[in-house]
Amino acid sequence: MSWYQLLDIRRQARAEFERDPNVVGPPTACPNDGEPLEPGPPSEPGTWHCRFDGWSYPRDWIRPEPPAGLFDGVAEGPGSYGGLP
Ligand SMILES: [Zn+2]
Repeated sequence: MSWYQLLDIRRQARAEFERDPNVVGPPTACPNDGEPLEPGPPSEPGTWHCRFDGWSYPRDWIRPEPPAGLFDGVAEGPGSYGGLP
């Protein structure tokens, strides 16, 4: 187990938590009511809509904030590990 492996684990956990579209894809259910999202029209590829209340991804998507402390204090400042996200 190296520091880089640990860093990868942490980075993956954070990406999954934040639902980074590049990692885990768009949400599959409406955050308001839990309705399964439907794909948008062909003119809007990559969008997803809620039939129930009109919620639309990514238009209405708000990146969730991690709970306080979850990612704080773990070498987050500049220069901690330079160049790595
Ligand atoms: Zn909805």
